[in-house]
Amino acid sequence: MSIKPKKSLGQNFLHDRNIIEKIIDASKINLNDEVLEIGPGTGNLTKFIIDQGPKKLYVIEKDINLAKDLEKKFLNKINVITKDILKIPDNFYSGKKFMILGNLPYNISTKILSNWCLNSELKVSKMILMFQKEVADRITAEVNSKEYSRITILSNWKFDIKKIIDVKPNSFFPKPKVNSSILEFTPKKKFHIIKNPKNLEKITKIFFNQRRKMIKKPIQFLFKDHRFDYNKIDARPGDRPQNLNVSKYLKIVNEYEALGS
Ligand code: SAH
Repeated sequence: MSIKPKKSLGQNFLHDRNIIEKIIDASKINLNDEVLEIGPGTGNLTKFIIDQGPKKLYVIEKDINLAKDLEKKFLNKINVITKDILKIPDNFYSGKKFMILGNLPYNISTKILSNWCLNSELKVSKMILMFQKEVADRITAEVNSKEYSRITILSNWKFDIKKIIDVKPNSFFPKPKVNSSILEFTPKKKFHIIKNPKNLEKITKIFFNQRRKMIKKPIQFLFKDHRFDYNKIDARPGDRPQNLNVSKYLKIVNEYEALGS
């Protein structure tokens, strides 16, 4: 069987056994886990997940041909969902607690992660995900750095995040042009409560659309005639978006929601 990887689907198959084992070791899958793998491709990682004997394994793969091959290869050991991950409804996750693993399709990795962060139905025990290194650096960025972005805020709201390892292009076929990194996401026991995650999505979008501008502009836009008390969030009108830590953004959302928004 010969597979012609599809660039449009971000197909870079991981074939480096050491890296696959790093993902498996970090996951510490046990018999009660329901695992969800995103973009299993040719099943390189899938095979190792199955060997750990999870209670259930769901895989979501958009490529119909790959999905059919996976069904043949692993028969009743996996549940193949032949769909676009971005079109999976929020309630797919309801009432479940997944461990999510995957070498994500890089063209949509930020979108996949932000959807999960904003989905109140999603409960996970852990997520171990491969990103292009540049995106991983943004996810784990420190406040006041140039990598600090919307995705830093969305993902650090509910998760503790740590890097497991950087991965070189030659661990994949075909080789991607960039380096990659594997990140581990552990849900925080306690996270800052907001009424509606959509408000965090909206507010971070407004701030980071003009990341070089001072924050008094987006604040004025959001709060209009209502006086905004900068002291409440320990910020100044002249700060730039990358100067506010995650908790300050969540407090802005609280203030915004207090207006009845
Ligand atoms: N995990 C595999 C393949 C990673 S490549 C490995 O490491 O070898 C990314 C995979 O995601 C490909 O199999 C690709 O077909 C799949 N994919 C791309 N876009 C997708 C989408 N929108 N929804 C689900 N899967 C997608």
